[in-house]
Amino acid sequence: MARYDCDLFVIGAGSGGVRAARIAGGHGARVMVAEDDRVGGTCVIRGCIPKKLFVYASRFAPEFADAAAYGWTLGETRFDWPTLLANKDREIERLSGIYRRLLANAGVELIEARARLLDRHLLEVGGRRISAERILIATGGRPVYPPVPGAELGVTSNEAFHFDRLPGRIVIVGGGYIALEFAGIFNGLGVDTTVVYRGPQVLRGFDDDVRQAVADGLLKHGVKLLTRLNLKALARAEPGVAATLTDGRVLRADRLMFATGRAPNTADLGLAALGVALTPTGAVKVDEWSQSSVPGIYAIGDVTDRINLTPVATMEGHALADTLYGGRARLADHANVPHAVFSQPEVAAVGLTEAEARARFPHVDIYRTSFRPLKHTLTGRPEQTMMKLVVDATSDRVVGAHMVGDHAAEIMQGVAIAVKLGATKAQFDATVGIHPSAAEEFVTLRTKVPAPLAKAAE
Ligand code: NDP
Repeated sequence: MARYDCDLFVIGAGSGGVRAARIAGGHGARVMVAEDDRVGGTCVIRGCIPKKLFVYASRFAPEFADAAAYGWTLGETRFDWPTLLANKDREIERLSGIYRRLLANAGVELIEARARLLDRHLLEVGGRRISAERILIATGGRPVYPPVPGAELGVTSNEAFHFDRLPGRIVIVGGGYIALEFAGIFNGLGVDTTVVYRGPQVLRGFDDDVRQAVADGLLKHGVKLLTRLNLKALARAEPGVAATLTDGRVLRADRLMFATGRAPNTADLGLAALGVALTPTGAVKVDEWSQSSVPGIYAIGDVTDRINLTPVATMEGHALADTLYGGRARLADHANVPHAVFSQPEVAAVGLTEAEARARFPHVDIYRTSFRPLKHTLTGRPEQTMMKLVVDATSDRVVGAHMVGDHAAEIMQGVAIAVKLGATKAQFDATVGIHPSAAEEFVTLRTKVPAPLAKAAE
């Protein structure tokens, strides 16, 4: 008789947990998964997927306007928020069903209840006690509300996917991924949109040229961007809310949305009693094999707060399942993970920023271009695309690629393969461009940006 009820018990049926569970199941492990919400996790239910559908919705307005330059006459256009919500919800239901089927097809038992660890090999799941040889925590994260008086009157991205009606005015607090993506969505849908960001420039951690280009683009698209300011207090106003900022000014809006970061879901899992070490931000501390400080207890995805992206969580889950049950020990590789912000303009990057490269290599070459996309030569819209390559001059390797503009994410995926493989600038140059395209600029950048003065003087 088996010593445990299952080989692997996974807590959380998001992208990471589902991948780990079904790959482990495919390798022959007896796997159970607990989920106390809908199957699919943040990405499918209240993240990447519905967000991208909203982004598509928001891009129609400028397309309608631009069509005239290409000879089209359009009739009256009208946007209906409930239609978008209903269609989005139907698609999410479909995807959640696919995730369920993937689990079932891999022989994984799904338990729709909350799980808590009682000891290293025992869980309490919806009133049942289940023993497991190994436990995987894949519980993801949740949006955080900053400690501001009246914060409870604001909402987060979770609620923004279900607004009963489209607000007329919205204030978004934060300057990261979610703030900028939702700013583009609401602005594109005709909402008067203000972003309030505490720092000097949005998208901290991204390349400085990217940050500048995206801030310029947001303003051109009509988003109001207030930097070096934060929310001091939020109060009810009729209608909506009144947001008092740190400089004393008051913004009135129908909604205020916090996009001020996310926190790992580690509360109430029984981790402290078991001695599972957490990081200062409350994430499960793991080694390179995704094992926690307690042998046999593992964690992947946002709950570990490494790189909080869906494909990274699935990579970690897949590597773990192969390692534990596939007879193939392999590490998740966190180097050169490409990433995109589906703001308007769109941002995508892989590898090092210029500042990171300058800190790491003695000689760095920068190639950069900024141009009006061909499409907008007819429309007259003041769109700009910015592309940049960061090169370690000693080895000639391209160590960073950055783009702001249409299709940045689609273009960067291919560039990321080259960067991951360690391609040199000469190899980029030897690649023939696809003409006419924006992407071809990545293989036709010939002129170095003059080195900064401090460097030039060396
Ligand atoms: P981010 O970490 O990207 O941004 C958080 C923002 O909130 C930052 O601008 C931060 O400012 C600001 N902030 C934090 N605390 C406060 C505070 N107390 N008061 C005011 N402002 C504050 O988090 P998001 O919530 O936007 O997204 C979470 C993560 O989810 C992302 O980092 C990303 O990993 C992932 N994600 C990925 C997406 C994608 O792949 N396209 C889309 C959405 C999310 P500061 O810079 O000064 O710290």
